[in-house]
Amino acid sequence: MSKIGIMGGTFDPIHIAHLMLAEWAADAAGLEQVWLIPTGQSYMKADRSILPGNERLHMVRLAIDGNDRLKCLDLEIKRGGYTYSYETVEELHELYPEHQFYFIEGADCLFTMENWKCPERLLAGCTILAAVRGDVSIQKLEEKRTELLARYGGEIQLMPFLQISISSTEIRRRLSCGESVRYMVPDKVLQYIQHMGLYHE
Ligand code: NAP
Repeated sequence: MSKIGIMGGTFDPIHIAHLMLAEWAADAAGLEQVWLIPTGQSYMKADRSILPGNERLHMVRLAIDGNDRLKCLDLEIKRGGYTYSYETVEELHELYPEHQFYFIEGADCLFTMENWKCPERLLAGCTILAAVRGDVSIQKLEEKRTELLARYGGEIQLMPFLQISISSTEIRRRLSCGESVRYMVPDKVLQYIQHMGLYHE
């Protein structure tokens, strides 16, 4: 069985902290590859306009170009409708029964997972690999981890990560003001954003 990391994200746009997280997760859990999966329509972000899926997907592809350890999947964008992570994991098991999946996320997600759709089905299909960034105490994270495991079963691993205060929100804000996002996103992504005139007010 190959161990594969899956990292869902709105990626609006993808930035260097996402890419570093994928690399660190691969090392931490001994993953053969990490598959980045841009979301289709996020019901939790229905209140704001998100760049169309094909453009976010294209930026992810540009970002990982030349890195054999990272791969990009379009299954959530192709599926249409709202994106639910448990459906993605179940679909991946049907497509790749030979793989074992690790769902990579920022550890903050542990505090919202109970509001996700069917968390028990997500945890039944993969190990959660939650990146600790230092903004929440380890004790609080361990308590939450124990609580989630008692409620849903499955496996949740905490992995060390850095506190990098880069967010897609801040990148969009800077772009809308005409400020530089150079080095916050890979050069190819920046060139695409500039070429297409994305994220201008
Ligand atoms: P996102 O903002 O594009 O971020 C993708 C991932 O990177 C998240 O886990 C995020 O963790 C992490 N990240 C972003 N910036 C980071 C930084 N500076 N340092 C470390 N980590 C960083 O994606 P998203 O919109 O939150 O979605 C994440 C995934 O959760 C998607 O696959 C989505 O479908 C899934 N989700 C599923 C449901 C459901 O199934 N019902 C509900 C909600 C979300 P943080 O969010 O902690 O920053």
